[in-house]
Amino acid sequence: MTKNIAVIRGDGIGPEIVEQALKVLNKIADLYGHTFNYTDVDMGGCAIDKWGNPLPEEMLEKCVESDSVLLGAVGGEKWNNVPGDMRPEKGLLRLRAGMGVYSNNRPAKIWKQLADASPLKKEIVDKGIDFIIVRELIGGIYFGEHTTTEESGEKKAVDVLSYTESEIERIGRIGFETARKRSKRLCSVEKSNVLDSSRLWKSVMHRLAEEYPDVELSDMLVDNCAMQIVKNPSQFDVIVTENMFGDILSDEASMITGSIGMIPSSSLGATSCGLYEPIHGSAPDIAGMDIANPIGTILSAAMMLRYSFDMPKEADAIENAVSAVLDEGFRTADIMSDGCKKVGCSEMGKLIISKLERK
Ligand code: NAD
Repeated sequence: MTKNIAVIRGDGIGPEIVEQALKVLNKIADLYGHTFNYTDVDMGGCAIDKWGNPLPEEMLEKCVESDSVLLGAVGGEKWNNVPGDMRPEKGLLRLRAGMGVYSNNRPAKIWKQLADASPLKKEIVDKGIDFIIVRELIGGIYFGEHTTTEESGEKKAVDVLSYTESEIERIGRIGFETARKRSKRLCSVEKSNVLDSSRLWKSVMHRLAEEYPDVELSDMLVDNCAMQIVKNPSQFDVIVTENMFGDILSDEASMITGSIGMIPSSSLGATSCGLYEPIHGSAPDIAGMDIANPIGTILSAAMMLRYSFDMPKEADAIENAVSAVLDEGFRTADIMSDGCKKVGCSEMGKLIISKLERK
């Protein structure tokens, strides 16, 4: 298969971690007979320096025309004082809007080798944690009307939470499709005991369930879900939820897994063209030192293969290679523990490539 990938190296540690992910993709291409063509895209601080704009229109076009986008990270102190609409992060928001991605998907997975890094009790972690949160990204209360008025000398603030059936349906489909690619269990999270928007959410999810008879749908109230994520996270496989609930739950879920450097993410819309990036930022404090953890980016590339290119075996090969390297005790500085062998960013990349095999 031939796929065209837009590559945004970005700022800080971005170029170092993306380099390792590209080497991993090249090895996958060799092993499985694929061709991956890469198009470099400038975004973030480096684009401000070069073009005076965090995401020039022609750069966005390259992303929209690609089969998917792989992003390192953007931002840094150097650009903190540029005007608001020219900040590196604006490039990211414009990219998401321009690509029309309305779902953000974040896995929460405990690597058994890093179980000690989890703040949860060992008996909970030992049951295994491996689920994904599918979060609606461009609707709900964050995008509703926000007003602050004053009545009789008292201020009043209102934020509107609204969802249409079609907005719920499109994110619901991503939830069901994601569950289909995993263990076929989907938990829809809402607050239908209180909110009309949640009652509509629940009814749309149940209507959709009829189209996905192979996926088992369950419902959970968001307050219960927040408790269950720390009490019994092994029960979850795929969670689908609205924007604000997903924002909060996905941060909670990433905390229980330990290291920020290990977590990938994907953002998807109506087409298979997705945006894949680690959840961390550009880590300017360690940029250029060859000590960053490239695994979050490498696993983001694996998600691209699984969810956009329909290459599950290739994605499994990457995840198995990461696991094999961790089994042998190799760690970057951020996940280092006693008795392990510390390696840098490029060495970690090389080790993962050395463990890649076609099964
Ligand atoms: P950060 O995630 O960049 O760093 C937080 C801490 O985690 C730092 O100590 C850093 O060294 C460490 N860290 C992060 N990724 C790591 C990795 N792969 N390996 C080892 N250690 C790692 O968050 P921050 O310091 O708050 O933000 C730095 C810059 O990144 C800011 O300009 C911010 O706006 C930007 N940012 C960008 C994105 C993005 O591009 N999607 C996301 C968040 C923050």
